[in-house]
Amino acid sequence: MAASFEEQALKVPFFVPDISESEIDAVAATIRSNWLTSGPKMAEFQSAFAEAVQAKHAIAVNSCTAALHLALVEAGIGPGDEVIVPSMTFAATAATVLHVGARPVLVDIEPGTFLIDPDAVERAATTRTRAVIPVHYGGQPCEMDSLEAIASHRNMIIIEDAAHAFPAEYRGRRIGSSSNVACFSFYANKTLTTGEGGMLTTADDEIAERVSRLRLHGLSRQAWERFSVSKSWDYDIAEPGYKYNLTDIASTIGLGQLVRADDFWKKRQLLAELYTDLLTDVPGVEPLAVLPNRKHAWHLFVVQVDSQITGVDRDTTIDRLNEAGIGTSVHYRPLHMHSYYRDVMGYRPEDFPVSTAAFDRIISLPLWPGLDHDLASAVIETLADITRS
Ligand SMILES: *Cc1c(COP(=O)(O)O)cnc(C)c1O
Repeated sequence: MAASFEEQALKVPFFVPDISESEIDAVAATIRSNWLTSGPKMAEFQSAFAEAVQAKHAIAVNSCTAALHLALVEAGIGPGDEVIVPSMTFAATAATVLHVGARPVLVDIEPGTFLIDPDAVERAATTRTRAVIPVHYGGQPCEMDSLEAIASHRNMIIIEDAAHAFPAEYRGRRIGSSSNVACFSFYANKTLTTGEGGMLTTADDEIAERVSRLRLHGLSRQAWERFSVSKSWDYDIAEPGYKYNLTDIASTIGLGQLVRADDFWKKRQLLAELYTDLLTDVPGVEPLAVLPNRKHAWHLFVVQVDSQITGVDRDTTIDRLNEAGIGTSVHYRPLHMHSYYRDVMGYRPEDFPVSTAAFDRIISLPLWPGLDHDLASAVIETLADITRS
């Protein structure tokens, strides 16, 4: 498996995608079929994904960001509205709220897990709050029972940012199968990839219909539906939509990945167990807590480095790992510590003590299905050497 770009030099890259020869052949066949954009492969991918997460409807889009945006548009959320978002997340979770003209209200996370704190959601809710976007951080599902109780009591909807959460489960139910809208990402380094891509799942027929229209210019009949019927050139613009459709080329990769998803997950799970096990001998480096009643998707394996114990700060630890040929990342610099949210929205570090403290301590370790167990062990040995010196 060849790594590329700057990761070429690393012994253990942070991430290496797993695309099989049969997926590459299938993409070639799709290209030879002459149907390149959204068509039969996209429809097939939607059905296969819906089955995989037990969703009533799955609507393919070209990113999770697009799915989040469409979920907000569909819900009619706009100027004057507030949407609660954890500060410890990727740009897209809050930017899409700004795109519809609403205000993202940031809240803090729980210390052991980095999942949105339901009490903070309750405290942040106002009469203007229309939705909350919990992020299943790293692939571990949020405390959905508490969030659903708050949401129904406060009359707000839940849009799940499930970018990390395929194939996760909460109390035996797949993420994507509940009555909430859930938004998945198939970005290059997610647990299932189409290069770029996303999926919105819903149990609601009307949401499904409107989102499928909105994802492609708001057209009443889309190209692949028009292809086979009479007056195939005709359509109606029911409302102005977006250009968010997923191509058949990308969908073909997704179909191949889905077949191997269980194998991917088992490999991630074994690596997470190995890391957890080996870390018990490394003082000052703690994995995040794993909660009961869940299946963790293991998109990320995040550790917290306590520099009081290790004697080296997080940035130095990352630099030393990099010098040893080990790629890492940080998920995330919290949103309130970015200039837009600080300068334009006025958020302060002390508003979110847990996220702020977490930022100085976190490192995401390499985690991908093809990662060899000897190399994974070497990652922890190197970490142990760095933090013991
Ligand atoms: C990756 C990611 C997204 C965005 O996904 P795209 O498919 O790249 O748009 C949104 N939220 C979180 C938490 C993510 O990690």
